[in-house]
Amino acid sequence: LPAIYLNGIYKRYGNNENNVEVLSNINLEIANGEFLALCGPSGSGKSTLLNILSGIDKPSLGYVVLLNKLLNDLAEKDLASLRSKHLGFIFQFFNLMPVLNAFDNVFYPLVLNGHFDTKAATERSLHCLDSVGLADLRDRKPGQLSGGQQQRVAIARALAHEPQIVVADEPTGNLDLATGDAILDLLLNINQQTGTTFVISTHSTQLKARAGRVVEIRDGGLAYDSAK
Ligand code: ADP
Ligand code: ADP
Repeated sequence: LPAIYLNGIYKRYGNNENNVEVLSNINLEIANGEFLALCGPSGSGKSTLLNILSGIDKPSLGYVVLLNKLLNDLAEKDLASLRSKHLGFIFQFFNLMPVLNAFDNVFYPLVLNGHFDTKAATERSLHCLDSVGLADLRDRKPGQLSGGQQQRVAIARALAHEPQIVVADEPTGNLDLATGDAILDLLLNINQQTGTTFVISTHSTQLKARAGRVVEIRDGGLAYDSAK
């Protein structure tokens, strides 16, 4: 069974019939362990599609099956619980808490997530910061870290609960080329070592070149799929 299955997805914002359709009949299967780059011009609906496949937003029409669960049937609290257990998120602007140091940015979400006690959360946080190369900088706040270092903290946070799927919205979009390449190396490594599925919206030619699969959205539909 695929990790993610989208069937006949349409998305139109608002209720007005005249509103533009952002997504139109999207059909997509993403297997466990894939490293998928989702491309397309700005405004083509990449973020919308990521939000729909992760159950943050609902399609106007169509089915979403995430980790063998039909999301259409789930209540908001069950969607939230599914996300907090099995999904990790990485963003373009890192979305770290500025008042917390690197350790606490990883540790607190893990404890608040409710599935780990303080001891387990501490061990996992230290382990994840170590695996992104930031063990020595764990006492620093985001403002005392470079962009690449902040994204490493965000990656540690996204992975600390060992999610099956990581959803990343332009994770290298706010980094210079060399820093972006290092972040890409890290994500590819994690994918290869752990088998975690990655779905990544991106404009980066490096990321597209090295992704296992490239899918492009254009005019609301899937214009290209390297797996087809
Ligand atoms: P991308 O991530 O490819 O840049 P988005 O998914 O962010 O594209 O946006 C696709 C289209 O949907 C854009 O035209 C955008 O203005 C519109 N859109 C996105 N979110 C909303 C929203 N919450 N309400 C209304 N329109 C939206
Ligand atoms: P030592 O190297 O002396 O064994 P560490 O510096 O690795 O100790 O950390 C000791 C404990 O302190 C860790 O197990 C962890 O629980 C906690 N800890 C470490 N860094 C932080 C931090 N930035 N914020 C909160 N707790 C931390």
